[in-house]
Amino acid sequence: MRESSDSFRRHGRDRGVEKSGRGGMMGSRSGLRSGVINELGKGKARAWREHPVVTAITGHVPSQCRCEIGARRWADSRVHGPQASRTTERNIVGKTTINWADYTFNPWHGCTEVSAGCVNCYAEALDRRHLHSEKEHWGPGVQRQIMNDSIWEQPHAWNRKALRDGAGRPRVFCASMADWADKEAPDGQRAKLWNIIRQTPALDWLLLTKRPRNVLRYLPADWGNGYSNVWLGVTCENRGQGVPRLETLRKIPARVRFVSFEPLLEDLGSVNLDGVHWAIIGGETGRSARPMAIEWVRSLLDQCRCAGVAAWVKQLGRCPTVGEQPLVLRDKEGHRDSKGEDPAVWPSKLHELKVRELPTSNLAIGR
Ligand code: SF4
Repeated sequence: MRESSDSFRRHGRDRGVEKSGRGGMMGSRSGLRSGVINELGKGKARAWREHPVVTAITGHVPSQCRCEIGARRWADSRVHGPQASRTTERNIVGKTTINWADYTFNPWHGCTEVSAGCVNCYAEALDRRHLHSEKEHWGPGVQRQIMNDSIWEQPHAWNRKALRDGAGRPRVFCASMADWADKEAPDGQRAKLWNIIRQTPALDWLLLTKRPRNVLRYLPADWGNGYSNVWLGVTCENRGQGVPRLETLRKIPARVRFVSFEPLLEDLGSVNLDGVHWAIIGGETGRSARPMAIEWVRSLLDQCRCAGVAAWVKQLGRCPTVGEQPLVLRDKEGHRDSKGEDPAVWPSKLHELKVRELPTSNLAIGR
């Protein structure tokens, strides 16, 4: 029911930059730049513009645009759009640092906190620091930011590339700077999202939400038993708010259902995984990160195995613990690893946590 367990090496990626929570590296426009440069290492300052975190925010197409981008200009994708709109198949922006996806697509920016998992929302922190707009887009009644045409062109380029390469189906995470089932989505933008999903059948779209109760009313009229290229998922960070979302998800027709146990905030106990095909597990990152006990992860992995659910341990987070003791992770140079994404720095006694599986191919039609 899943890819072989040695899939870890094939699917694992060593991606460098943490998307910080509040107080993280991205304290301002210059903070973003210096944070990215720090992560890239000295002597690589010129590469900062091309970093995926930056390009995802700006829509900047580094190797095509020759203009000098001022600090304000590069940060405003609407201003920079005309240059960035020349997206080609050789310059595919939108690559993501999220290790379970290949691309991130944001149909709009902005959201409202709904549960404990939102407390350290990195997207909100980014928005409040005006990295991509003068306005803020978080909270009830606050207008969300719509994306320019260059952003909406990206999935078409990814789709063409996937068809040309023929090397599997790229996974697109929608959305990292919003919640696609937000009732305050900008007018017409969700319909536009469904259109582009229909037009890009070579991509698998991963729609994750903390608002599964809204999902049925927002599905398109021709949804049927689910689009073949859409995976529907919910976040499940705790027992009180997260676990009930799984009950709601189970009732929604979908070709693939998944759950993101990230940020995992407590021991979830026994979880009903019926009807779920894939589980992502991860600890919180950012300076205000809350701890995640390794025992909670082990429990979920055991339950995934019993239920035949593919599992993907994304990261141990900033504050993993073993029993009552903090587990301090260090990279190869001995520096503190604040994300715990690279299994090479995990202690050998945690080898059973090195699991990155995907649902079987027969779950998604068209593979
Ligand atoms: S639902 Fe997601 S994007 Fe919205 S506030 Fe919560 S964590 Fe942030």
